[in-house]
Amino acid sequence: MHARETVDRALSPSSQGLFDRQVAELCGVSIGAVQKWRTGARRAREDEDRRRHHSCPRCHDRALDHVTYAHLLGLYLGDGHIVRCRKEVYQLSLFCDNGWPGLIEEAWQAMARTMPTSSVSRRQRNGCTEVKSYSKHWVCLFPQHGPGMKHQREIKLTDWQQEIVETHPGMFVRGLIHSDGYRGMNYIRRDLPSGVRWYEYPRYHFKNESRDILALCGKALDLLGVAWRFNNRNELSVARREAVELLDLYVGPKY
Ligand SMILES: [Zn+2]
Repeated sequence: MHARETVDRALSPSSQGLFDRQVAELCGVSIGAVQKWRTGARRAREDEDRRRHHSCPRCHDRALDHVTYAHLLGLYLGDGHIVRCRKEVYQLSLFCDNGWPGLIEEAWQAMARTMPTSSVSRRQRNGCTEVKSYSKHWVCLFPQHGPGMKHQREIKLTDWQQEIVETHPGMFVRGLIHSDGYRGMNYIRRDLPSGVRWYEYPRYHFKNESRDILALCGKALDLLGVAWRFNNRNELSVARREAVELLDLYVGPKY
């Protein structure tokens, strides 16, 4: 093992014009050691270049995992945030309830698979886990990012996003409902000749202040053949038994 400063000196700019033999003599090490360090340093530089220039499916030629992206798009539109934290670097955050560890893991996976060149971290914040990742390119993948709240601006998918959602509407709805909706039990009373009976059945709700996002959810449900209706101006629900059963194949209870 050689000292770090010996390696640094051998790789320093002042050594760049020299032959390996000269550097070896100057540093008092073997030629083989210098060659090994140079190759290692070059590989590390190449890896860094590759990482930097192949990180974005929009700017570069990296393939995008469409299934995961449809899911992450749903999570982002449901309850995600993008903020610019320093020049040209954006932070994508998803806030997940600590009561649903399975969904925290899913959110983490969705980010990590969509932007594999950026690390994803978790942080505890007031009973929630913030899952976040930094990249220059989150805004390329989510051009809906803009100033203010999502419901105060138009949310419209680009053609390429539209195509992905139309191919994987189930994953998109999964993201939307798991971030900003829920599957709960409804109870109804029936007065029968034999007495009062209570029935319970599951139903889905998706609540969002953005009419555009509600419309996107409704359109994806239509593609799945899942019947839905508006409960309120800011909430839609899936309540019919066969519709709930169908949606269970794509979404299911939180866990
Ligand atoms: Zn990009």
